[in-house]
Amino acid sequence: MSSTALSYAIDDQDHLIKLDEGYYRFAEENGWGEAGDSLGRSLWDFVAGDEMRKIQRMLVRRIRDEVGHVELPFRCDSPAARREMEIRIAAHPSGRVVLFSARLRSENPREAIQPMLDPDAPRGDEALQMCGWCDRFEIDGEWMEIEEAAARLELFLRDELPRISHGICPRCNQMLLAA
Ligand SMILES: [Zn+2]
Repeated sequence: MSSTALSYAIDDQDHLIKLDEGYYRFAEENGWGEAGDSLGRSLWDFVAGDEMRKIQRMLVRRIRDEVGHVELPFRCDSPAARREMEIRIAAHPSGRVVLFSARLRSENPREAIQPMLDPDAPRGDEALQMCGWCDRFEIDGEWMEIEEAAARLELFLRDELPRISHGICPRCNQMLLAA
């Protein structure tokens, strides 16, 4: 069973200043190799994809300057499970520190698509875009769950998987802008 909650905070320069035990446990379970020395590093080093960094930066700015806090659903799938999570992002009233706390809402094991998210699987030149917020994939302009993407691309018949490039889908883009 995986951890159910984690939290971390950033200072006014967006550097990670506080990581709780849940963060480290979650990082270990998910094979985030660099997590051990996250403290003091920029939060943005850990967000994959330019678009996603850009929109999350805007979100953090809005939280600091305008809205104070938001709560949003997001996905954080592991190779073996589909995970629906919720994150609360809140500015500390006295300053520029922002606290992130995430918790698990549901976790469903799955088997067939494990190789697709396996960081060690062999990858070819073809790139498949994945939304960094909802973990869906884009094929021919359509965004879909990994199971459907794998079926459409007949991934199980291949020796090599496509590379995954990180972006953001229109639905999440809109949700984050509206938060
Ligand atoms: Zn998305």
